[in-house]
Amino acid sequence: MTSNNDQDHIIPLDHPRYESLKYRHKIIEGMRTLIVAEAGLIAHGRGECFDYMLGEKTNETAKEAIKAAVALLLTAKHAIISVNGNTAALCPNELVELSKIINAPLEINLFYRKKGRIEAIKNVLQGAGAKKILGLNELSMVEIEELSSNRRNVDPNGIKIADVVFVPLEDGDRTEALKKIGKKIIAVDLNPISRTSLWADITIVDNIVRALPEMIKIAKKLKDADEKELINIIQRFDNKKNIQLSLNTIIKYTKKQKKKLL
Ligand code: ATP
Repeated sequence: MTSNNDQDHIIPLDHPRYESLKYRHKIIEGMRTLIVAEAGLIAHGRGECFDYMLGEKTNETAKEAIKAAVALLLTAKHAIISVNGNTAALCPNELVELSKIINAPLEINLFYRKKGRIEAIKNVLQGAGAKKILGLNELSMVEIEELSSNRRNVDPNGIKIADVVFVPLEDGDRTEALKKIGKKIIAVDLNPISRTSLWADITIVDNIVRALPEMIKIAKKLKDADEKELINIIQRFDNKKNIQLSLNTIIKYTKKQKKKLL
């Protein structure tokens, strides 16, 4: 049995690491079509490593963070979803679906601005049904002074005015800069101790390919909840404690694997 969605890399459907290989090849394909930067391959590999240590599933701690994240997005005045190459390559449909449910626009924001990349990402998002995409017009961008990388250029109608920024797969510098200008940050990062994870207000320690479908599920449930309930969920959530619990998950999983060797 073989999958037929990638002509160059036929992955047998019964391969024990089928899911992982499938997403790996989406990233490679994304690089070929300019969506993913070369460095995105390395970032993906770093993520895969942490995913292994987390047992490659959405743990209870991640579910708690997801619930708080969705509540924060639903109570925001101007929520925005920041999109980079890896997220666009891995889960464009889910980005668009979440954006519609929580009524938060998608803004393309890249570290590596190679010619044609924004266009490639725009096309994949539009192909997934996105109607409105921000961050396309370089001439109308404004700068976040606290940041020196390319990512300082943001859309005046998007990240610039947002109170809550959802930044799946972020780099630490920008999370720090966005925090300094008063934004609330939600990150998805498999590495619980990256600077992004430590700086964010809500850190979802999970793979983006699992976290987004779970966020969509929870958003559908909480969409009509009253504000009091949503605020309650946000207030009960403690990000530092949640990160500690994610680290405990890694420790427990590693110990379990170690026991198997005895
Ligand atoms: P920081 O600057 O925040 O300390 P970093 O230098 O590791 O972290 P990058 O290399 O820019 O940051 O981003 C890669 C991060 O994204 C890594 O922490 C990696 O664990 C995470 N990551 C990669 N792929 C995924 C994925 N599919 N889902 C969730 N997280 C991922």
